[in-house]
Amino acid sequence: TKTFRLAVIPGDGIGKEVIAAGLQVLDHIAEESGGRFAFEKDTFPWGCEYYLEHGKMMDEDGVEKMKGYDAIYFGAVGFPGVPDHVSLWGLRLAICQGLDQWANVRPIEFLPGVPRRLNHPDVDTLNWVLVRENSEGEYSGIGGRNFAGRGPGKEVAVQSALFTEHGCERIIRFAFELARTRKRKRVLSVTKSNAQQYGMVLWDEVFARVSKEYPDVEAEQGLVDAVAAHFVLRPEELEVVVASNLFADILSDLGSALAGSLGLAPSANLDPERKAPSMFESVHGSAPDIAGQGIANPIGSIASAAMMLSHLGLEEEAEQLNRAIAETTRQGIMTRDIGGTHDTAGVTEAIIRNLAAVKATE
Ligand code: NAD
Ligand code: MN
Repeated sequence: TKTFRLAVIPGDGIGKEVIAAGLQVLDHIAEESGGRFAFEKDTFPWGCEYYLEHGKMMDEDGVEKMKGYDAIYFGAVGFPGVPDHVSLWGLRLAICQGLDQWANVRPIEFLPGVPRRLNHPDVDTLNWVLVRENSEGEYSGIGGRNFAGRGPGKEVAVQSALFTEHGCERIIRFAFELARTRKRKRVLSVTKSNAQQYGMVLWDEVFARVSKEYPDVEAEQGLVDAVAAHFVLRPEELEVVVASNLFADILSDLGSALAGSLGLAPSANLDPERKAPSMFESVHGSAPDIAGQGIANPIGSIASAAMMLSHLGLEEEAEQLNRAIAETTRQGIMTRDIGGTHDTAGVTEAIIRNLAAVKATE
């Protein structure tokens, strides 16, 4: 039996609910493997409740603790009572940046049966993947407040974005390599280099240089405001979209909403060099507005578990799980955010049932 060691961080709000759903699916998959593999899971109680009790979002050596695991399965952080920048920086960003998980991969698939908010005749063939720079950019944490001597009502705050040639190059190269494995072999790079003349111009220059090494991949550049419109107006032209930390964050919420709901989108925070474990999480946050009701859409987290399976080398299981998810929405078994009447548990059980059906048809 091959044992994979998983660190589980459910976090806050619906993070706990969707991670419980994902673990139920993973346990089922391990049982069905007939002893080929197993998951050994350690759950860490980090998050906003932990913060209110201990004054910190996670243990001081939390990042260090993660290093012994094969992968990290993450829910979401943030809850009223703790400022959002405290919870985000104290846990999610601390891990992503601490372990240098520099590539955040966010596929957006249009699942059968889900009412789309995008009126496009070929919606079923749309399949995007956002590649988000995950280590620097606008989330570099460089800046400050309360510059001296300004007087009341005149506070000045500075928030800087950091772009290194190394950081730009590795994420852009990653996007080209990914595009090579896909149908249309197309990369769109997103910046705002007309207004932001330093970091974003460096990004554009690196993109132009790296693109020459990939003559088989179609390379295009766009400005983020126009790209937002592009998502809605010409979605068929998009395939791999590579962008800075902030822009890709925004575009991935837009993309997943166009596909039906924020609750559908999975993501992987990868260290592609595999020096450290990678982290798998849904794109959405802790959704305090629906937390505790058992109605959160578990698909984003379950699809993130599929990305984790694939990362661990369990390709066949990952593919079966994705097919079981698609079969479940096709049957109309969906949560309310995508027009269904089922709850988190109902959708999760249906996915597990459909796993058996998917395997039987192979
Ligand atoms: P959110 O993603 O939590 O919620 C936005 C809206 O989408 C809400 O109406 C919510 O009910 C809905 N939604 C999200 N996921 C859903 C799901 N699985 N099923 C059904 N509906 C779903 O974003 P927000 O409201 O801006 O932020 C809430 C908290 O989450 C904040 O504290 C924020 O900082 C945090 N956050 C954390 C992460 C993360 O941990 N990676 C990401 C984004 C936001
Ligand atoms: Mn986000």
